[in-house]
Amino acid sequence: MADNTLTASPATGLTPASLLERLRTDYPAFTFETGDAFCWSPADKKIIYEEDMSGDHGLFSLLHEIGHGSLDHRRYTLDFELVSLEVAAWEQAGVIAGNYGITLDADHVQDCLDSYRDWLHRRAICPECTTRSLQDDSGSHYRCFNCHTTWKVPPSRFCRPYRRSAA
Ligand SMILES: [Zn+2]
Ligand SMILES: [Zn+2]
Repeated sequence: MADNTLTASPATGLTPASLLERLRTDYPAFTFETGDAFCWSPADKKIIYEEDMSGDHGLFSLLHEIGHGSLDHRRYTLDFELVSLEVAAWEQAGVIAGNYGITLDADHVQDCLDSYRDWLHRRAICPECTTRSLQDDSGSHYRCFNCHTTWKVPPSRFCRPYRRSAA
C-alpha cells in the first residue's frame, strides 16, 4: 500500500493512517470501520470513517467523531440539541487533537457548524408558506404556527448531513 504522505501538521508528521492507528490503540472501547461518511454510532460505539482521508479535513472529521464518542454522545430528540452536541464534539476534538500535536482549523470547524445550522433551518421551514416553525416535543414532526401544516422529518444521526466538499 502506498504511503500517504499527506500530513496533518508539519510538526507531527502524522498521516491519516498513522493517526488512525494511534487512535485505535488509544480508544480500544471503540470499533473503527470504513463507510460512506464520517459518523459516530452510539449504539455500538462505532467510529465510521471514509476510506479516503486525504487532506486535513479527513483527519479533523475523524477527531470530531472521536470527540462524540469520548463524550459518550447518545440519543437526542430535538434538532437543536444535535447542534449543541456538535459544538461540544468539536471542542472535544480540539482537545484530543492537541494530544497528537494537531491543531484544528477554526474556519473548518465554523463551516461544519454552519452547515449543521443550515440543515436545521431547512428542516424547520414550512413547505407551504416558508414560515420558520418549531419541532414538536417528540422530534418527529414540525408544525407551522402560521398555516398549521405539519411535516415529518427523518430522524437525524451523528453524521455530517451535508455533502462533502468537491475540493
Ligand atoms: Zn458530529
Ligand atoms: Zn406554514
